[in-house]
Amino acid sequence: MTIELRSDTFTKPDPPMLAAMMAAEVGDDVFGEDPTVTALENKLAAMLGMEAGLFCPSGTMTNQIAIRVNTQPQDEVICDRYSHVYLYEGGGMMANSGVSVALLAGNRGRLTASQVEAAIKPDDVHAPVSRLVSLENTMNKGGGSYYALSEIQKIKQVADRHGLRMHLDGARLFNALTETGEDPQAYGRLFDTISICLSKGLGAPVGSVLLGDAATIKRARRVRKVFGGGMRQAGYLAAAGIYALDHNIPRLADDHRRARQLGEALQECSFVKDIMPIDTNIVIFSVDDVSKILAQLKAKGLLAVPFGPHEIRFVTHLDFTDKHLDEAVRILRSL
Ligand SMILES: *Cc1c(COP(=O)(O)O)cnc(C)c1O
Repeated sequence: MTIELRSDTFTKPDPPMLAAMMAAEVGDDVFGEDPTVTALENKLAAMLGMEAGLFCPSGTMTNQIAIRVNTQPQDEVICDRYSHVYLYEGGGMMANSGVSVALLAGNRGRLTASQVEAAIKPDDVHAPVSRLVSLENTMNKGGGSYYALSEIQKIKQVADRHGLRMHLDGARLFNALTETGEDPQAYGRLFDTISICLSKGLGAPVGSVLLGDAATIKRARRVRKVFGGGMRQAGYLAAAGIYALDHNIPRLADDHRRARQLGEALQECSFVKDIMPIDTNIVIFSVDDVSKILAQLKAKGLLAVPFGPHEIRFVTHLDFTDKHLDEAVRILRSL
């Protein structure tokens, strides 16, 4: 048995999700004629209380489109130094949008309103124009940490005072909402654009959705085309996303419980130096020799990824069951 803990992107569609995909009604979505894509976009927009949605092949594309539509060249994006948009999107914001970036040192990736306010540049010809605040929730590199809505509301007040726009990389927003119990529509009211991944904990094989107001999403649709993300009979993929939204949100709590149980097992392991607090489905711990531990785990069938000079990351997901958890704990104890 392989224990897959490298990422929550490894999940494969189960038979009912596949059946929903096979039964999808499709059309050419570049012509706006795929009813299943449109249904997915409208469904997620309604869930977040936003006007419109745009189905894209990846969360990198939804984030990059968001940065493009919220900025102009020579503008600056304010984000945490460990943000996915900065660290894991290949320098895309510079290449795709010609923007500069102000990198802040958040608390496990979470910014405060006063940090954001202090990063806003003066209106001076020497400086880039502060334009966009990009937050990430949950925060991957912060070990799945999540924001309290009240802090985001304070950041929004700063943004409003200074005429900044707000983007949320909500690749794992539903993991955050699982813990806080907050209203998804409250998020829709705070952000100009939100990106949600269907292919992480929600278990769809492909796809992310960018949400915003109708005018912003209309512009985003044009940018998606030029980024090469206009897809044709994409309803087969969108059907998986609809199925995921209908069935796989309540079970995120199971992923969080299993992540905490992995953390308890790690606490007993002598090779583990430190464990980040486990808030959602991501477990980051430090060891002396990352490649040695990863190789030992792999030899016993447990796959994980290096996540820093001394860090290893586990991510729990739909295809990591209690049976896999028991086996993972057994392997960790045997090391
Ligand atoms: C996975 C992820 C994305 C998008 O990644 P893709 O692989 O391009 O879909 C964006 N932000 C965060 C925080 C992520 O974890």
